[in-house]
Amino acid sequence: MAYETLKEEIIAYGKSIGIDKIGFAAANEFAEMKSRLKLQQDSGYQSGFEKGTIEERTEPTLHLSDAQSIIAIAVAYPSRMKNPPKNKKGSRRGNFCRASWGLDYHHVLNGKLEQLSTFIASKIAGFESRSMVDTGELSDRAVAERAGIGFSGKNTMIITPEFGSYVYLGEMITNIPFPPDEPVDDGCGDCTKCLDACPTGALVEPGRLNAQNCIAFVTQTKGFLPDKYREIMGNQLYGFDTCQVVCPKNKQVDTHLHPELEPEPDLVKPELLPLLSISNREFKERFGSMAGSWRGKKPIQRNAIIALAHYKETTAIPELIRLMKEDPRPVIRGTAAWAIGKIGTEDGLAAIKQAQTNEQDEQVLHEMEKGLAYYTQVT
Ligand code: SF4
Repeated sequence: MAYETLKEEIIAYGKSIGIDKIGFAAANEFAEMKSRLKLQQDSGYQSGFEKGTIEERTEPTLHLSDAQSIIAIAVAYPSRMKNPPKNKKGSRRGNFCRASWGLDYHHVLNGKLEQLSTFIASKIAGFESRSMVDTGELSDRAVAERAGIGFSGKNTMIITPEFGSYVYLGEMITNIPFPPDEPVDDGCGDCTKCLDACPTGALVEPGRLNAQNCIAFVTQTKGFLPDKYREIMGNQLYGFDTCQVVCPKNKQVDTHLHPELEPEPDLVKPELLPLLSISNREFKERFGSMAGSWRGKKPIQRNAIIALAHYKETTAIPELIRLMKEDPRPVIRGTAAWAIGKIGTEDGLAAIKQAQTNEQDEQVLHEMEKGLAYYTQVT
């Protein structure tokens, strides 16, 4: 069978199973990325979540010895939700970023890639493939760029002409020499909106991110957060969308093609206070199917505490005092103490002073001091 014809059949089949865009790329190594990745490593700009060595991240043949082409897929996700719940005093809510709306996209895209692989195998003898979504070694964005899914924006996201940057990406390395597609021309022009809007300067130059300074990454860490991030995070529980929201290429883009990727408003904007006492089991039952739960409940709870402090939510004080005194996790005890000080009530002040006498952990004690200092500043 001519590979051009098969390509058309693959695209048509892909559409029928909810793949919104498919592109084909040659499986040569991503030689131009090697020096960039090395520089990122040497600068300490990586998130630490990357998988594999630089070679594994840039050489498709290390994952499929007879790699000939890579099929890149994109699935569009919504940017707006209907009927978002009200965020009011007394029942403040947090926020999960859009990439955590609906079912975990890793499962959704891996399922589609599996179907696609089965389809191609039914058409061609000896077909071999290896698929990846986000957590694989290859860079989804580099593959998508080469395969003509979209151009790489200054915000480091792939921007498609059809769906903006609101797309999930995945790829399949194959042993079939499919003819490659043309890359999409860079469309950022003179715009610098994402660089200007980034509150931490994490976009250190166009197309270059210091992940350590990116709020999306910061929300996923598990330890004590530096104060500068606590002030910026607002009510963000997981991820951060600013560099996508300000992008003119995303203006008016809001795609609703996949019911499984639609947000459940009460889940992606959950009430903060109940999160502080949620059990592991409840957390798994409620949030386990979302991409944003992959780091477990601790970072979400820490971020919820920071969000309550941001709102100066006085109704949270009794629960924060309980956490400060009783929670076995120093990060939670310490962040709660800091939040109590920031909210600044008489009860809170007395509780921090009393808890100081029993606390052994140096970092928690430091957070208590910060909380007391905050209190003194605001009163
Ligand atoms: Fe490019 Fe402007 Fe979008 Fe940034 S905001 S990715 S510079 S178009």
